[in-house]
Amino acid sequence: SEAEELREQLQNIEAADTVKEKISKEIDRLEKIPTSSAEGGVVRTYIEWLLELPWEKETMDDLDIHLAEKILDEDHYGLEKAKERVLEYLAVQKMVKVMKGPILCLAGPPGVGKTSLARSIARSLGRNFVRISLGGVRDEAEIRGHRRTYVGAMPGRIIQGMKSAGSKNPVFLLDEIDKMAMDFRGDPSSALLEVLDPNQNTTFSDHYIELPYDLSNVMFITTANAVSQIPRPLLDRMEVLTISGYTELEKEQIAKTYLYPKQLKEHGLSKEQMQIKREAMLKIIRNYTREAGVRNLERTIATLCRKAAKQLLAGNRKRIIITEKNLPQYLGAEKVRYGKAEDEDHIGVVTGLAWTEVGGDTLSIEVSVLPGKGKLMLTGKLGDVMQESAQAAFSYIRSRADFFNIAPDFHEKYDIHIHIPEGATPKDGPSAGITMVTAMVSALTDIPVSRDVAMTGEITLRGRVLPIGGLKEKSLSAHRAGIKHVLFPKENEKDLEDIPESILNDLTFTPVSHMDEVLKLAL
Ligand code: ATP
Ligand code: MG
Repeated sequence: SEAEELREQLQNIEAADTVKEKISKEIDRLEKIPTSSAEGGVVRTYIEWLLELPWEKETMDDLDIHLAEKILDEDHYGLEKAKERVLEYLAVQKMVKVMKGPILCLAGPPGVGKTSLARSIARSLGRNFVRISLGGVRDEAEIRGHRRTYVGAMPGRIIQGMKSAGSKNPVFLLDEIDKMAMDFRGDPSSALLEVLDPNQNTTFSDHYIELPYDLSNVMFITTANAVSQIPRPLLDRMEVLTISGYTELEKEQIAKTYLYPKQLKEHGLSKEQMQIKREAMLKIIRNYTREAGVRNLERTIATLCRKAAKQLLAGNRKRIIITEKNLPQYLGAEKVRYGKAEDEDHIGVVTGLAWTEVGGDTLSIEVSVLPGKGKLMLTGKLGDVMQESAQAAFSYIRSRADFFNIAPDFHEKYDIHIHIPEGATPKDGPSAGITMVTAMVSALTDIPVSRDVAMTGEITLRGRVLPIGGLKEKSLSAHRAGIKHVLFPKENEKDLEDIPESILNDLTFTPVSHMDEVLKLAL
């Protein structure tokens, strides 16, 4: 009978006695329920969940550090800090046997390999891997499940994940933890707090399962685009490893040694059948994709593989070689005009550098001067801090008007309009201060701004340049945009260490501490 079958399964599972007793009781109960009743189904599903959860089942960790290192390198280029941290974790694990795992948070722009690195970490440790996406999760019950009295009740995502992991010590990826939502239905982050807290997660309670479940052997890894969006108490429990965007040279390496071979394989092609010349690859990186990570780059290579496969199948050719010249035949016209952000020096237009959750980006700030009464207009979806920063910039110019050779009464005769295009993307932060001043001075004096200069820095009312964040991401984006010269706050000089060699070679970085220096260099 059914009950006998379930009892037999119960014999074969590894679980604590309390768990086995509970299952046994439920089976007894099931036997007493008439087979036709709906309740039978509910009880049966519950028993099946309990039987299938890995209560004690465990995989053996592979504690060979050299092998782990090899696997991590096999899957990803670079990412040294993150890989190093994983190897340290392994080493400690080897020494102490049982350790409360650190909770790593891989943070960075899209497509830099966060999700795929987590998968690789599982492989290098020899553990099972599960991933759940927290993007859009807004309800505690999604984490912790519904009580069984609720129609169609199910365990929450954590327990579901454990079931599909099949062992009690998997690498468990909580993807996109910064995209979790919060509303009147409850706060999923408090349930997650229990999941991630080593003092509480030995007895994690799911509303559906009812029995405490031990999560303490799980290695949790989280990912986020914007660390600032992670609820503070959760963030306090994690160790953040930041992954910045890649430089062109790094992308070229990644494409050559990882993405291209991977896509060839997925499309059943050999290296002889399809080649991409180096110049063509560079062109893809520069003119067909514009991103901090490599996701579009990978997608573009996949497109080429697909088109090549089709041509090969059509039978008129034995091998396809993609060159800089024939690239448009496959991909159409260039999508990004590299280094052509501004074709000539403009009056009142200055390139700023912004830090966003998708990495750095260049930001063109436009100012026009119109007859009026000294009104300051701001458009382009600027946040509060940015608006204040524009006010400060305006006041600074007024106080220094004679120095800039601007009529001292300009603010009685003209309105100033500051616009930052791409209105759909909200922008905020004080770091466009010096850029706004430069654009205003240029517009008021009719002196054009060199188009290959970009700048970032906060400004005080007296014209001092204050430090900013994200210099590395900003300089990567300046490089992508074909900028030659970056002005940055002197107090950020220490951050130059983090900037890749190839970027330091290609761009000139000039530290500035006062607005006067900025104007001298830019105008
Ligand atoms: P998102 O924030 O959008 O989720 P992500 O950081 O999780 O992005 P992935 O999906 O992990 O990005 O990476 C996109 C693709 O790029 C994957 O196929 C991944 O293998 C590849 N990739 C990223 N970085 C590297 C790298 N350093 N070496 C090799 N491949 C890489
Ligand atoms: Mg991801």
